[in-house]
Amino acid sequence: MFDRFDICEAYSLLEEHWNHGGWLQERPSNQRRGEACSVQLNRIGFKRSPMTHDVSDLSENGQRIYREAEIRLGLVARHVHVCDACATGISNDDWSHVDANYNLSDPDELEARENAHASIAGTLELLGWLTHCGSTDLGGYFACEVCGVTDMSPAQTFSAEK
Ligand SMILES: [Zn+2]
Repeated sequence: MFDRFDICEAYSLLEEHWNHGGWLQERPSNQRRGEACSVQLNRIGFKRSPMTHDVSDLSENGQRIYREAEIRLGLVARHVHVCDACATGISNDDWSHVDANYNLSDPDELEARENAHASIAGTLELLGWLTHCGSTDLGGYFACEVCGVTDMSPAQTFSAEK
């Protein structure tokens, strides 16, 4: 959601938390202008709420903007949530569980199975090296980011190298 106040608050806080020498050096717009977020925010007359000190003080939308920017700017590793079966697949490089979803004596399903394997391989290629870092309670159902299957929380969490 585009909300100017949420965006300003999120970047103001990002800079406070992640600055080097007073400015958020990873942000392309700051590099281009040679200016800190705070300078740009000041110029448009933005003042952060005095109650906002941590990510949890931001609106839900602001928190999402903050977290997405953290990943996009390479400040933190991206976390990937996957189902238990894919967690085993990643750890053991064994994707035979995918075959269980298909009737391998049916040529159409055989093709669907090939597509599923290709899709998983493509996703893994994009994500790069994955390191298991535990499980995360996402509060209910979630979509596995590797195979796309809907699974029940907790999710197995991996951090992706950039
Ligand atoms: Zn999965």
